[in-house]
Formats: sequence, structure tokens, C-alpha cells
Amino acid sequence: MTCFTSNGAIFKPHNAMFDVRVTMKYIIVTGGVLSGLGKGITASSIGRLLKGRGLTVTAVKIDPYLNCDAGTMSPFQHGEVYVLDDGGEVDLDLGNYERFLDLNLSSDHNITTGKVYKKVIEKERHGDYLGKTVQIIPHITNEIKENIKRVGEESGADIVLVELGGTVGDIESMPFLEAVRQLFRESGGNENCLFVHTTLVPILGVVGEQKTKPTQHSVKELRAIGIIPDVIVARGERVLEYDIKRKIALFCDVPMEAVVSAPDAESIYLVPSILEEQGLTDYILHKMRIYAPKHTMRKWNNFVKNIVMNMQNPCAEVEIAIAGKYTDLKDSYASHIEAFQHAGSEAQVKVKIRWIEGEDLDVQGATGLLKGIDGLLIPGGFGDRGTEGKIEAVKYAREKKIPLLGVCLGFQLAVVEYCRNVMKWEGANSSEFDSNTKYPVIDILPEQEDVTDMGATMRLGAHDIKLVPECLARDIYGGKATISERHRHRYEVNPEFIEQIEKSGLRFTGRSKDGIRMEIAELAKHPYFMAVQFHPEFKSRPENPSRTHLGLVRAAAEYKSKKKK
Ligand code: GLN
Repeated sequence: MTCFTSNGAIFKPHNAMFDVRVTMKYIIVTGGVLSGLGKGITASSIGRLLKGRGLTVTAVKIDPYLNCDAGTMSPFQHGEVYVLDDGGEVDLDLGNYERFLDLNLSSDHNITTGKVYKKVIEKERHGDYLGKTVQIIPHITNEIKENIKRVGEESGADIVLVELGGTVGDIESMPFLEAVRQLFRESGGNENCLFVHTTLVPILGVVGEQKTKPTQHSVKELRAIGIIPDVIVARGERVLEYDIKRKIALFCDVPMEAVVSAPDAESIYLVPSILEEQGLTDYILHKMRIYAPKHTMRKWNNFVKNIVMNMQNPCAEVEIAIAGKYTDLKDSYASHIEAFQHAGSEAQVKVKIRWIEGEDLDVQGATGLLKGIDGLLIPGGFGDRGTEGKIEAVKYAREKKIPLLGVCLGFQLAVVEYCRNVMKWEGANSSEFDSNTKYPVIDILPEQEDVTDMGATMRLGAHDIKLVPECLARDIYGGKATISERHRHRYEVNPEFIEQIEKSGLRFTGRSKDGIRMEIAELAKHPYFMAVQFHPEFKSRPENPSRTHLGLVRAAAEYKSKKKK
């Protein structure tokens, strides 16, 4: 594909046949008015649209908090901790980029204040600044810019999307805004660096009028910092009225076509087409002087078509219970929810989720709470709250032959349940929850005991898993002998008990490369008993759903249809 810049030079998208590449281009997405507007989805959608034009896109998420990464953050506050291939524990927005852009990012793609300051202080201690006074400008801002540029260069992408978390005006965002302002200048400005500002257009109660003042104020704030937005994405309940669009254009000094309406959507996967319909991709390409004609995104469009069908007129529907610990904040299970969307689209089955709090299972038992479900997911987690209830839930699914997917802690509890109720090992447990149990069937491996403040090192990131021949895992993974999935855990199946457990019927069909760690447990006499030590939800993509979630959805649909007969 040939793409041209304004001065006639050829701009080469990564997959093009030309060998000339002018410069890397940046799209910076900021947010105004309030947080939680869906900046990440806006940015991911823009990326998806540009990818649809044959450009290669990568993404950087900036989180202005002081934590170095999301590893120590509670899911109650920030939603799930998302894990990358390299073991980076990052903000869940990175998950949206990976899903929308079908990329595998590394932890360098998540920049936090903590990370930047740590690096600068290390350099200062090392004497790298040669006796100079170390200051926010230029040292912190340089570090931020270098990070962004390096990530872009290493990825070789045509476009680097940079999402600046938080809201314009926050004290902690200031150094980042200053850094991207400088980046604009250094990248050659205009056609090489575009600013997209996401704001809220609220509707005032009685009259139902769309109000532009918050947008005006946040744009003013941005301008005061020296950033002039090129595009304004207006979030709100409804589509922007024509006059309101015109007013925003006038007061914020952008052309009408640069004001884009992003009303609440039924599914995040509809956002790219909502933006595309308003001509946003063409506007951005024109502004950045890139010529990149449309071509069809067949797989993506098919995925979206099925998502819409599942919402409006589903061929089939299943109800899957998620028995977790953080069910009040659904973001804690964001990747599972998305994985079910992907799997549901592929299987053409609508997935309805029934949220079950592990502690309620402790008190009320599984029978009442799980009655009528077609499948069960026990997700990952830390700490013992609700674990007994989850063990009850596994028992229920095992005995009633309801399709079950156990993930990480869910895998460990499936093993515990089996040992207690089938092996009859009374009080069998994970040593995470009972350090005195006679049967520590889940335990810390001796080689892991380097004792950090967490008690042992966390096993993180993508690791290979060898699958035995002829097992359910091989079937659902398309016959592959080795797969790669992401991990985040400390405890393992205790090698002392493996032989006895396997003899009695719970097979470990997937193991780590060295054979020491058990990765998958299956029960032959069950329609779908799939317990996995890894987190398949993190690699699920719209066009390539998690195999284990897809397996669960398909098995649940079959279970439901048999139940009816
Ligand atoms: N708490 C368990 C462990 O550390 C499971 C972790 C998880 O589910 N992510 O091994």
C-alpha cells in the first residue's frame, strides 16, 4: 500500500511494499471532566480503525499513579490486574489494546509515575546526570518521552497510540502532559502528532439538554498547558445534537468533523464502527497526511456481527455462573467477561453471567445459588475468603456433570475438592489457607521458596505447557502438543500427591516444560471438567477466543440442550 505525506514523501505503513518510512506518528488521547469515560476504549477503537486501513499500531498506557505497576493493587479499587506475556502486571486497559489491536504488549507499554521516578532516581544515584540539579522538567519529562519513543521504535509500528490516564487538570498528570506537549514539538508537530481529547457532554435532567460547558472548560485547561486538541470525542448518553456539535466546534476551535459523538454503546466492540460512521478515520488520516484506502476487516466484522446477533436475536443462550470474590466490581473479572464475549460470538451463543459471591456460597451452599446454571467458572483469586463455598460449587458441578472451568485458584480448589470428596482425604487443602493440613495438596514448591514479602516468588507471564496425547485440552486447543498461556500464581499441585490423584481418575493433562508443575486437570467421566493453573482469559481475542472459554460455552450449550430433552 502506498501512503503519502503532505510534502509528497512516501509514508510507509508497516505492511506496505515501499521501503521508505518518514517518521513515526503519535496519537495522544487525553481525557477531561471526569475519569472512567472510556478513554481506553476510544483509543483502542481508533487503533482498530487505523489497523483496518493497513497501518500497524501499537499502544502505550500512562497511569499517573505512584505505584510502579499494578501488581500490588487491589482488584476492589482498580479492577483486575492484567498480566502480559513478559510477566508485567499492568492496568486492565492494556487488555483492551491487546484485544482490539490483536497485539502482545510488554510491560514497557505501561508507564506509571512510580516507574519513571524510580528510573530517574536510579540514574541520579548512578551519577548519570553529571552533578546537575535533577528536575521534573527536563529530567522527568525526558524520561517519559524516551519511554514512549523507545516503545514505539522497538515495535516498529506506524502509529503509536498514547493514552494518558486520569483527567486534565490533575496534579499528577502534569509532567505527562508537559512531556507529550514537548513530544509534539519534537516529532515535527501537526501531521506527526495528533491530540484526541475525550470529554463528557452531560444531559441536564428536566429539559434533557446536552451541556457543553464541561467540555469547554477542559479544553481550556488543555490549551493552557499548551496542547491544542485536534479531535474531540464527546461521551454521553445520547448522540450529540447538530447544534451542540457546532457549538463545541466553535468554542473549542476545531472543525465540525473533528467533533465526534460517542454515545453509550451496548457493546464496546461497536465503538469502532460508531466512530468510523462519523468519518473519524478519514479525518485522522487526512490530518496526519496518510493515504490509506479502506479495506474490509472480514474477521473483525464477522465477530461484531455475531456480537450484535447475540444481543438482539440470539440463536442460543446459556447461563454461566462466575463464583468469585470481587463480584461487586465487575471490572475485577474484565478479561473473563470479554473472553465470554469472544467465545459467545464464535459459538453463536449468548452468554448470560450469573454473579455468585464466594462467601454467599459458604453460607447458603451451592444448590440454591447454582440451580439452573449451564456452566460454572471459578476464577483466580488470593486469600481464603469464600474458598470453602467455591469448593462446594466445584463439588456441585462435578457431581451434577455441569461444565466447569477452574482458573488458577479455581484449578487449585478443583484439586482440593477432588482430594477431599473423592480421595476422601479429610481436610485436604492448599497450604495458602491451612498451613497445618494433613494433606497440603496445593503447596509452595521448595524451589520457589526464596521468600519475598509475599512468602514466595510469583510465577508470572507466558510459559509453555505440554499437553499429553488424547485429552480434552488437546481437542480444544486444536490438537497442539504445546501451548503458551499466561500465569500469575505462587502455589502448585504438591508433587507428593500427584501419582495417587492421577490413579484415582483426575488426570493432569498439561504440565510445565520441565514436568514439575501441573497446569491442567481433567476428569474423563464428565462432559467438561477443565481446570487450568494459567489464565487463559488474558490471551483471548475477538478474532481468536480463549479455547477454554469457548470449550465451556459450547459444553454449556450442549448441556442445556440435553437438559431440555
Ligand atoms: N492464590 C493462588 C496462588 O497464589 C492463586 C492465584 C490466582 O488465582 N491468581 O497460587
